[in-house]
Amino acid sequence: TGRLEGKVAVVTAAGQGIGRATALAFAREGAHVLASDLDAGKLAGLDGPSIATAQLDVTDAAAITAYAQAAGPADILFNCAGIVHAGSLLDASDNDFDRAVDINVRSQFRMIRAFLPGMIARGGGSIINMSSVSGVPAGVPNRFVYATTKAAVIGLTRSVAIDYVKAGIRCNAIAPGTVQSPSLEERIRAQGDYEQARAAFVARQPMGRLGTPEEIAELAVYLGSDLSAYTTGHVHVIDGGLSL
Ligand code: NAD
Repeated sequence: TGRLEGKVAVVTAAGQGIGRATALAFAREGAHVLASDLDAGKLAGLDGPSIATAQLDVTDAAAITAYAQAAGPADILFNCAGIVHAGSLLDASDNDFDRAVDINVRSQFRMIRAFLPGMIARGGGSIINMSSVSGVPAGVPNRFVYATTKAAVIGLTRSVAIDYVKAGIRCNAIAPGTVQSPSLEERIRAQGDYEQARAAFVARQPMGRLGTPEEIAELAVYLGSDLSAYTTGHVHVIDGGLSL
């Protein structure tokens, strides 16, 4: 039997990349998965006996409330949605900053607020928040807004963990290094010289390769499952050695 047999798992940004790989891994491990994304088109092909898909914008508070009400109680919540702003402090506008806080951080506040009461009523749950090694523990150039929001995720994670530990809730963060995903591919292409830009991303990974969404999904499965019952409030780094 799977490691998530009988569990209900909610995954945001499940249309592509790490979110999609995780929705598939959760389903493979026996969970009933509620997979959502801003872009409904990206959810194509995910629907099936163990995955129900829906369009959901994690910045839309009313939509999140309605989604959670329709979903009912969940055992696992994976807050995967996030965007990358490329640039240093002097490259960032107020709007860039606000947008990133909204999508990368406030979204997690809103999703947890919507699903936590159901978890508490059930006597437990596992919340997994997407951070990044650029938040902690590494310093990554030209990721000012991104790193600021991904570090905020860690404070959010610890606070939820300590406040609800007695209610059986665990809350952990995942901090990946560079992972091959559609948006990473876009960031590489945006730099002009494709081969050179890709080589630069690979060069900062001591293992000499990028991570795969499936490798990150395995960590999410572990954190969602009862096998990780003794860990809460921590950042689980999975970065190919980037932060060494
Ligand atoms: P991606 O960036 O390729 O895809 C992101 C998905 O998020 C898309 O399907 C998009 O439609 C969805 N999305 C965007 N805004 C949304 C919103 N408002 N509401 C709901 N969904 C929305 O996927 P990825 O690169 O695997 O990134 C997933 C998460 O992992 C992000 O939080 C990212 O910051 C984090 N992360 C990625 C890497 C990496 O190298 N790829 C490294 C560390 C952390």
